[in-house]
Amino acid sequence: MKSFGDRGDWRIFGYPRARTLSRMTESKGFSNQPQIAFCEEKQRLIGEFVAASRELTELQAQQTRVVIEGDSDFARFDDLLHVAREKKDRAKYRLIAHVEQHKC
Ligand SMILES: [Zn+2]
Repeated sequence: MKSFGDRGDWRIFGYPRARTLSRMTESKGFSNQPQIAFCEEKQRLIGEFVAASRELTELQAQQTRVVIEGDSDFARFDDLLHVAREKKDRAKYRLIAHVEQHKC
């Protein structure tokens, strides 16, 4: 399968599962609403995810750099990397959840 990376994940499994979430959207009458072409909330969540991804990438680059420079304390980045990775995952799951509920 072609890899779409993090941003592609929700596109791949978001649609088949969407129907199972109908109980969450029934009360809001989504079926009677027109298709939403542009969703501000989705754009905001994408922005959050991209920012969190860049933060993680930057920390990894910094750690790589200090290792190359011979800094024996490179493990000090591990906690920061852990936090950054969790932040990125949370942003990703918020985006997935929004797209599934909102169908945008
Ligand atoms: Zn939306």
